[in-house]
Amino acid sequence: GVRHEPTNKIVLDLERLYDEASEDLAYVARYARAIQQQRGDYNGRVLSIRADDLRALAIVYDSSPSGLIERLTEHGVLVADPRALFAS
Ligand code: C2E
Ligand code: C2E
Ligand code: C2E
Repeated sequence: GVRHEPTNKIVLDLERLYDEASEDLAYVARYARAIQQQRGDYNGRVLSIRADDLRALAIVYDSSPSGLIERLTEHGVLVADPRALFAS
């Protein structure tokens, strides 16, 4: 069957991220657009990002990676299980 092992992958919900006009997430949104461009990955509803890039972004927010994760969670732009989005 399909494996469903838990992962710590950072997956952004792009619809929510880009809709959320919040000033607070402006840099995350800009970063996500840049990554989409670099990958040529334009059609996804979600975007998996590198742990390294989360670390870099955390510095921009004068925070820690876990602090930024918390902030993203508060804004509801983090996807816990991307497969769940496509289920049903
Ligand atoms: P690159 O870092 O030399 O990676 C070349 C290709 O290796 C990528 O092409 C991708 O197919 C694969 N690759 C590298 N790392 C990973 C990974 O952790 N997971 C997966 N699934 N594949 C990986 P791609 O996606 O077309 O990206 C082209 C170039 O764009 C990359 O060259 C890199 O310079 C940049 N890039 C793309 N996505 C990111 C990102 O999330 N963060 C950063 N910093 N650069 C990125
Ligand atoms: P997953 O990582 O749990 O991702 C589930 C689905 O979320 C993916 O289904 C895809 O529709 C979406 N998704 C996740 N990250 C991205 C992203 O950065 N860009 C876009 N456009 N969509 C994303 P999909 O493509 O059918 O993949 C199913 C599973 O296959 C993935 O589950 C993962 O376990 C594996 N997989 C697919 N592509 C890669 C890859 O480049 N690297 C690795 N290691 N696994 C991959
Ligand atoms: P993933 O593809 O499942 O990769 C999981 C981890 O394996 C990555 O975590 C990274 O540590 C390592 N890895 C996979 N492929 C490569 C590679 O070509 N070169 C190196 N040096 N390491 C690799 P990381 O970096 O935190 O990335 C998390 C997820 O973000 C990846 O999961 C993938 O879905 C996405 N991603 C990261 N970089 C790229 C990229 O350049 N292109 C694409 N298309 N997706 C990427």
